[in-house]
Amino acid sequence: MARVKPDLKYGQPVSEKDWARFWSFVSTPDENGCLLWRGHLVGRGYAQFGFKGHGYQAHRWSYSMLVRTIPKGYEIDHVYARGCRSKACVNPEHLQAVTPSENMRRAYAVKFPNAKRHRPPLRPRLTPPEAP
Ligand SMILES: [Zn+2]
Repeated sequence: MARVKPDLKYGQPVSEKDWARFWSFVSTPDENGCLLWRGHLVGRGYAQFGFKGHGYQAHRWSYSMLVRTIPKGYEIDHVYARGCRSKACVNPEHLQAVTPSENMRRAYAVKFPNAKRHRPPLRPRLTPPEAP
């Protein structure tokens, strides 16, 4: 039988052993203040942490245990504006819960810093008739 992965909740009990294991995977801050995960990485470089028999993204685990419960449907952004430069970072001060669309907007803004925020209209605007 497949076990349902429980949602992480701020304030839920975490054993000393689990805390020690978590921090044992975390590097000292790099030049950006990032706390990089030295343990298992999955997908496009996201840190993975095994907790109570389930695999969690380590940055989500960090945020949930150290900041607050992640609201339903929210994603965790590695906030570029706070200096974060790595998806493998678990520094709670670099993390923020945002909606998926906000997360995508920020990622786009970082990737294409010179892109205009709004695209020009596809069709040229009709010139209003000149006033007499
Ligand atoms: Zn960071």
